[in-house]
Amino acid sequence: MTVYPDFDRIKEYGDLRMSLSKDQLQDIIENLQGTCLTLDDVLDDYGLSSEDLNLEDLSRIEEEIFLCDGCGWWYESSELGDDEDGEFLCRWCIECENDMDEELEE
Ligand SMILES: [Zn+2]
Repeated sequence: MTVYPDFDRIKEYGDLRMSLSKDQLQDIIENLQGTCLTLDDVLDDYGLSSEDLNLEDLSRIEEEIFLCDGCGWWYESSELGDDEDGEFLCRWCIECENDMDEELEE
């Protein structure tokens, strides 16, 4: 499941889009963090969708928070764990995965 917008398309058209204000971005980040809402769910409150965000806005959101591919929750970027598969996983999901790997090995 992915809720990220189409980055390639945004790269192509992103410059045409209006940037969100700093306050708006901060609000959006706060509304997402610790929830399993999609970006669009939160942007809907502003009458926007992820397609309205330009690349700069998106990277600013991504600097602060990330969506865990494992549990589907948004976490602070500092909670992003290391995963060899290049997935965005929170450290708890990685712990979970490691536990499962260990069980398989036993
Ligand atoms: Zn997770």
